[in-house]
Amino acid sequence: MDTQGSIVASSQTVEQLERACEGWRRVDNLLRRLCSRLTYAAEGRAGILDATLSELRQRLREPLEEAALESLLLRLTDAVRALDALPVEAAPVAPMDEVAAEVVVPPRSATASLLLQLIDRLGLEDNATERLDNVRKAILQASDEAALAAQAEIVACMVNRHHRQLDDQRAAAEALLAQVTLQLGELTRYLDHESTDRHDGKGARQELDRHLTSEIDALGTHLHQARDVSSLHQEVQSRLGAIASHLKTFREREDAREREWRLQSERMSQRIGELERSAQSFEARLRQKQQLASIDPLTGIANRLAFEQDIERVCAQVTQDGAEACLLVIDIDHFKKINDRFGHAAGDRALRIVAEQLATRLRADDLLARYGGEEFVVLLPRTDAAAGRAMAENLRACIESVAFRGQKRPVQITLSCGVTVLGKGDTPGDAFDRADRALYRAKHRGRNRCVML
Ligand code: GH3
Ligand code: MG
Ligand code: MG
Repeated sequence: MDTQGSIVASSQTVEQLERACEGWRRVDNLLRRLCSRLTYAAEGRAGILDATLSELRQRLREPLEEAALESLLLRLTDAVRALDALPVEAAPVAPMDEVAAEVVVPPRSATASLLLQLIDRLGLEDNATERLDNVRKAILQASDEAALAAQAEIVACMVNRHHRQLDDQRAAAEALLAQVTLQLGELTRYLDHESTDRHDGKGARQELDRHLTSEIDALGTHLHQARDVSSLHQEVQSRLGAIASHLKTFREREDAREREWRLQSERMSQRIGELERSAQSFEARLRQKQQLASIDPLTGIANRLAFEQDIERVCAQVTQDGAEACLLVIDIDHFKKINDRFGHAAGDRALRIVAEQLATRLRADDLLARYGGEEFVVLLPRTDAAAGRAMAENLRACIESVAFRGQKRPVQITLSCGVTVLGKGDTPGDAFDRADRALYRAKHRGRNRCVML
């Protein structure tokens, strides 16, 4: 892209990003209010939830931090699960004539409707569609306000992350624009100077012309009036001297102008070089930011977002070109116990080691990603069912044989794995559901095993 093109593109990007940021700020504000109301609505229904809800409300009044929100989300999910496990109180039986004869659709609360409307207005990036669909489903199935609050929290996390990415991109584009504006100012000054200079050059030539004409005219007049050769000789000498002096002045000025012009051109080509370099580094920074957005910060491997982008591509290849590929969904067994016995930091270390060990067993174009919590996914292109099963078994055995240390005592970690072969026409959701069902069977059959579906 040329300099002018970069400038126009950068200012358009800044405008777009500012508009998008403004929109996100409004959504962010709405979400905070919505979450806060949900917490009030859910409060008092179960003691187990109240502490988390009150902390969530407190956090909603401060700048949001993703890590803190995710940890709250986990606690909220655990609390909702625990709530589900409690015995349900017998609901009052409605008189026969009040019971609908056919399908009973649970009434949708005002909060659920508001949440659904909000999701429809979000317009997150394409790869969030599937996650938003899941949230929509969960809202429709939510049986109480606490379950709705958990879903609102998930949406808040997604919006928050998107918001921060937009802010970063806007700041980078603004910095580039400021630099471009500065250098553009310098270019304008140079061009102004250049045109004045050209004008000066023309003036100097006209002045020289005038001097020469006047000297030659004066010489002609004297030629007619001269009475003797000696005075004529003197006159010619003096006029020639004047002409030589005019020429010298003219040449000196031209030399100075040329020197100045050369200096200015060098300065300008330097500036243009700097401009090109900053445009390139801006592009590189943007690329790096996009890459960072697809890496899991705890383990350094790809995150769920990167996996979702990759599986879209692999599913399309399988459907269009008949390529072969397998998907593995892996979950560490009884991971909660590791946290409970050795602490969360040791749990984090174990996650990093598992990721590292799995990565070393894979080929360069296989994708290993942390799907969330203690769950990983592996996408194996160019892999048939037998090879997919063998790879899953290899990964399982590898983790089983690694010696982990928890407070200086060896601890065994095992994993369960669901394997599936990607079929023609499979959507990413189809493939994932199958592998997840296979994983569930592996857990059910006693863990530390691989099941293929
Ligand atoms: P199962 O064999 O059925 O999978 O049992 P599990 O204990 O592994 O599964 P469960 O879903 O009950 O618990 C998962 C635990 O993983 C709970 C949560 O605290 C922990 N966890 C999730 N993410 C992280 C994390 O980033 N770091 C640590 N240390 N623990 C995490
Ligand atoms: Mg799990
Ligand atoms: Mg687990």
